[in-house]
This record gives sequence, structure tokens and C-alpha cells, in this order.
Amino acid sequence: MPTYDDQNIFAKILRGEIPNDTVYENDHALAFRDIRPQAPVHVLIIPKGPYVDFAHFAAEASEAEIIGWMRAIAEVCKMEGVEADGFRAISNAGVNGVQEVPHLHVHILGGRPLGRMLQ
Ligand code: IMP
Repeated sequence: MPTYDDQNIFAKILRGEIPNDTVYENDHALAFRDIRPQAPVHVLIIPKGPYVDFAHFAAEASEAEIIGWMRAIAEVCKMEGVEADGFRAISNAGVNGVQEVPHLHVHILGGRPLGRMLQ
């Protein structure tokens, strides 16, 4: 399993060391607006635990953490009004995925037609 770097920017957000634009929080997840939005709605949802990516999370998180993160994603889609018209959920991982921040996160993008991503 990967080693978690507790100096990454999302770890600092979770510790309250740097500000963020929170849209939703529960016991296991925090959701905040991306600082460089790529769509009218662009929210990042992160688990509160120290997980680098999906594989790490799936292997080591408790069921409560997994459910809490998934419910947070669904709740954000509802709150941001993208549930009806649709949205895209992306989680970049590793070098090939060009993951910039090594703390698991899903991007929720919506509020405009996003175009086809896969051909
Ligand atoms: P990824 O790791 O490539 O999936 O992308 C990380 C995302 O985090 C990028 O879209 C950045 O714009 C975003 N980001 C980086 N720092 C901050 C921050 O301090 N607040 C909110 N979003 C951030």
C-alpha cells in the first residue's frame, strides 16, 4: 500500500491549516469547491482518513468510512443541483492519472454539457 504524505494540501485543509470553500461535511468526508474550477459546478469530495487513492481506500477504510464518502458524493450532487441534468465524477490516480494531490478525492463536475470524454 502507498505511504500517505500528511503534508499534502488536502491533509492541511482537513487539519484547518489552510482555508477552503466547504459545501458539505459528514463524519467521514469533506466536500469543498475546487480552487481552479473547470465547470460551473466543480466540487472535490475527500474522505477524512489518510488514503492516497481508491485502491488504498478500498483496502484499508472501514465500511462506515466507505459509506460516509459515497453518501457525501451523492449528497453534493443533490445539493449542487446536478443530479437531474447529469454530472461527471472523476478520480485521478497515480502518475498516469496525473494525480496532483495524493489524498483520495473525487471531482464532481456539472452545470454545463461536458462533452464526450471517451470515444
Ligand atoms: P488531481 O489530484 O489531479 O485530481 O487534482 C487536484 C485538484 O485539487 C485540482 O483540480 C486543483 O485545482 C485542486 N486544488 C489544489 N489545491 C486546492 C485547494 O487548496 N483548494 C481547493 N482545490 C484545490
